[in-house]
Amino acid sequence: MTTRIYMDNAATTPVREEVLQTILPYFREYYGNASSVYAIAKESKKALEYARKQVAELIGANPEEIYFTAGGSESDNMALRGVVNASNKEKKHIITTKIEHHAILHTAEYLEKKGVEVTYLNVDEFGRISLEELENAIRPETVLISVMFANNEIGTIQPVREIGEIAKKHGILFHTDAVQAVGHVPIDVDNMNIDLLSMSGHKLGAPKGIGAIYIRKGSRISPLIFGGAQERKQRAGTENIPGIVGMGKAAEIAGQEMEEMTKKLTGLRDKLINGILENIPHSRLNGHPAERLPGNCNISFSYIEGESLLLLLDAFGVAASSGSACTSGSLDPSHVLMAIGLKHETAHGSLRLTLDHQNTEEEVDFVLEKLPAIVQRLRDMSPVWEDYLKSENK
Ligand SMILES: *Cc1c(COP(=O)(O)O)cnc(C)c1O
Repeated sequence: MTTRIYMDNAATTPVREEVLQTILPYFREYYGNASSVYAIAKESKKALEYARKQVAELIGANPEEIYFTAGGSESDNMALRGVVNASNKEKKHIITTKIEHHAILHTAEYLEKKGVEVTYLNVDEFGRISLEELENAIRPETVLISVMFANNEIGTIQPVREIGEIAKKHGILFHTDAVQAVGHVPIDVDNMNIDLLSMSGHKLGAPKGIGAIYIRKGSRISPLIFGGAQERKQRAGTENIPGIVGMGKAAEIAGQEMEEMTKKLTGLRDKLINGILENIPHSRLNGHPAERLPGNCNISFSYIEGESLLLLLDAFGVAASSGSACTSGSLDPSHVLMAIGLKHETAHGSLRLTLDHQNTEEEVDFVLEKLPAIVQRLRDMSPVWEDYLKSENK
């Protein structure tokens, strides 16, 4: 293993040591099925309900409104498909945005094939939706508004409370994919008029494969997974107790540390952003300058390829992410960067560095020290850079 500096926390986070220690007894000693009657099973049941409380507290919900799932993608699927399935309207319409995670976008596309109409809202150059466009998109048959809390690529935070107000005024359910926001920014489902909210453990220092959905009491939504009566019949399947315990613990820590972490990460992030913009010509910040996640830095460099940038950073032990979706086997640039108006070439030359509690100022300094030469090296090999230099010289 050569990675020494991990700056891809929006992709996943390492399990926190305190979380791991809290989980271990639920593999070794308290392995009982939470539905059984004997003592060790009761320990599982107790841990399950305690974790539900911990998660609820982080977003201002009641514990009975939290349902554990197998991750953010499942919660997103459940929100969209569950609400559409539960609605008895003849024609159904949902409103979402062009910059959602694929767990929302691909579910919306699936629903379109099933006859549901979908409006995909535009975003401005910073990645924010227009409240006016949202309100204008509402129809009598609209059953759901789904707008992500914070974007996973560019970190932009949406005006969630205002969106919630509009949804409430029109009597429409409001879902938010808050996978990137939970534990990083304050969330209050009541104050923000959120009816459904998706979250995921592994973006928060808990293991992969555990998530939750908040469902406001009284919201009409069908289950996605049928079987046993777990999670008050909303989500069948023997509960993933170690995962759930871990997610509860991670939520508790995130709540306790939020103020301190916001200060630390905002400082590191801004040092990173300003250092890059000042020292590397033809670079630009993607996303909103102020309304953005504390740990998100996303920069485009003209005249280079993001993928090659990642490989050179990796050679220095730095793990980061780029704006081209090559990981998915396609050469399409990120739909998010396209939606904020970037040209193909610029979108391809982007770099996402996402920070969390384990990152240090020394790591930021190291990246700031290495990056200018890496970008220059790639530009020196780039035919488009050569063309640019020629056009400047004449
Ligand atoms: C990671 C992520 C998801 C998917 O969560 P999983 O737990 O990996 O399924 C959904 N939405 C956003 C915004 C994400 O960042």
